[in-house]
Amino acid sequence: MILELRAVTRRHGTGASSVTALDAVDLRVAPGELVAVMGPSGSGKSTLLHLAGGLDSPDAGEVAVDGQVLGTLRPRQLAALRRRSIGYVFQQLNLIPSLTAVENVMLPRELDGRPTGRARREALALLDELGLAELADRFPDDMSGGQMQRVAIARAVVGERRLILADEPTGALDSHSGEDVLRLLRGRCDDAGVAAVLVTHDARHAGWADRVVFLRDGRVVDETAPLPAAESLLTAGAE
Ligand code: ADP
Ligand code: MG
Repeated sequence: MILELRAVTRRHGTGASSVTALDAVDLRVAPGELVAVMGPSGSGKSTLLHLAGGLDSPDAGEVAVDGQVLGTLRPRQLAALRRRSIGYVFQQLNLIPSLTAVENVMLPRELDGRPTGRARREALALLDELGLAELADRFPDDMSGGQMQRVAIARAVVGERRLILADEPTGALDSHSGEDVLRLLRGRCDDAGVAAVLVTHDARHAGWADRVVFLRDGRVVDETAPLPAAESLLTAGAE
């Protein structure tokens, strides 16, 4: 398993005003698997991704990435695991405006100690593989929302990332760009054995997933293969 949550509970706040954002959640994601997480606002989706990425820690239960239980790691080890093995795409893309696309993508590798030339070649090769070569020298301000989204995904998957966590990465996109992002994520799972967890509100996007996990009030209330309705919509769209 690349990602394993075992009976993970996370409470925010204390006393009467405390909120149980996640309540004894179990989740396992294998190499090559794309799992969609759906649920109403406030159901714990972002909390789940933060915990899976080691950006937050559980009050009970444990989270393991690539077999390493995050709670047992020293801060430096956790930081290294996050940098090397985990890629994030957030709704607010966090591309750095003063860097070009290729510079944004190479940044995590440079932070990891790669010489600039190698980091650059690696980032260019990835952009090319993802069909984004024409964006390499563009600044975020000169890209469409969909293009920025795709560059943000490139940055999340660069290097040996094993786990991609995406929190509504298609939020602000038109449906066409949204599909591109999903195709890109799906491709990384199929071709590179990456595991991905995608929070989405869109049943058509969830249709790309191997499994859909539904959260409500911090609990997993249902777990299914993609909705037949979503699949038939996709098929209809492809004809
Ligand atoms: P979702 O992403 O599904 O909208 P969240 O994981 O953001 O849900 O939030 C789950 C619950 O936890 C909500 O009730 C939210 O208000 C609460 N919550 C999330 N983060 C915090 C925080 N830092 N402090 C207090 N409450 C929080
Ligand atoms: Mg959220």
